[in-house]
Amino acid sequence: MSAQPQATPAAEDEVVDLCRELIRFDTSNPGDGTGPGERAAAEYVVGLLQDVGLEPELFESEPGRASVVVRVEGADSSRPALVVHGHLDVVPAHAPDWSVDPFAAEVRDGLVWGRGAVDMKDMDAMVLSVVRQMVRAGRRPARDLVVAMFADEEAGGRLGAGWAVDHRPELFHGATEAISEVGGFSVDVAGQRVYLLQTAEKGLGWLRLVATGRAGHGSQVHTDNAVVHLAEAVARIGRHPWPVQLTPTVRALLEGVAELTGLRFDPEDPASLDALVDALGPASRFVGATLRHSTNPTRLAAGYKENVVPGSATAAVDGRFLPGLSQEFDEQVAALAGPHVRVEDIVRDTGLEVPFEGALVDAMVAAVTAEDPGAQVLPYMLSGGTDNKALSRLGITGYGFAPLRLPPDLDFAGMFHGVDERVPVDALRFGTRVLDRLLSTC
Ligand SMILES: [Zn+2]
Repeated sequence: MSAQPQATPAAEDEVVDLCRELIRFDTSNPGDGTGPGERAAAEYVVGLLQDVGLEPELFESEPGRASVVVRVEGADSSRPALVVHGHLDVVPAHAPDWSVDPFAAEVRDGLVWGRGAVDMKDMDAMVLSVVRQMVRAGRRPARDLVVAMFADEEAGGRLGAGWAVDHRPELFHGATEAISEVGGFSVDVAGQRVYLLQTAEKGLGWLRLVATGRAGHGSQVHTDNAVVHLAEAVARIGRHPWPVQLTPTVRALLEGVAELTGLRFDPEDPASLDALVDALGPASRFVGATLRHSTNPTRLAAGYKENVVPGSATAAVDGRFLPGLSQEFDEQVAALAGPHVRVEDIVRDTGLEVPFEGALVDAMVAAVTAEDPGAQVLPYMLSGGTDNKALSRLGITGYGFAPLRLPPDLDFAGMFHGVDERVPVDALRFGTRVLDRLLSTC
């Protein structure tokens, strides 16, 4: 028997409508300042919160780039607050590729279709419907909540979470922990439903390689050619077989998968690790890149005429380093780049990793298993990043927990930034129940 409060039907009933309404605001964020911005969606969120008597604050980092924050008083305000955050922007959608209008939020075959359906207007709607229901019913969350809906996550959060942390840190006063995307969804492992709770994120290092050499006429002998230096460095860095380094999160995940599947876990045997990653099905897209650093060359630029050897040449590399190992990563990249190539940061953001334990983790596991008895919960590392990176600068420990019970055949990882992004209606309702339990008890 559970003594925990149940979500009233109203929250579950409105979550689908709220998700659809949010999708209908085109908040595409191409990252170059040409998008429509989040203002209209943010005003809609403000209305939803004011409706139940809350006093949200809307603020803009730049005209149209709006975020919303509201504090909800908890039963015990002496405890540290919990940040529950989402982002209002989405990546652009190329409509001709889609089966539906990406901003119409159609419901088809029991799913809500549209840009943002999983990233992350689903979670935004779940949070808003649960908070509204709690306030309407006169229930308090267990502790103070800081509910935040940020702008600009899809372009790195500089105009959203990053801006709020830098310019309005008092909004998060007293907060020590946070939950948001990308975790809490279920995957099928050997017929067993497993929820992946995100306890780690890789760090991000977008790097510029700058090769220098002696400029001159293309007809002469050149032993110090910047283009050659760059090409060799790009090839070395791009081909480098980064060794497996299992952080505690990834080790715990793979050990858990080994237990469920009966497959062998041998940290010294990369093939055994690959088999464990594969056993996660489509979620292996999220997990596959978390066993090691990665460096993918993405841009090249050099020269201005066929018969002129340029004095310099540049390339960009998308580097992703394991949390806690950024210095080792930098040293390795510099060594691979070689003596003629300088490595500069274009964008850099921290890696995160926290233990899969503690009261909040226990509460997340309990909330999921109360609604899905018999399910397993395992930790995992996201190969990308979230706004939890920005909040970590305030000492806030972030988890990815946007609970969704998904059918085993849905390629959930492929939905992120993908064509025909969609989320099951049942999963939204499930997530609402789980979140209500969590926020009532944690
Ligand atoms: Zn997202």
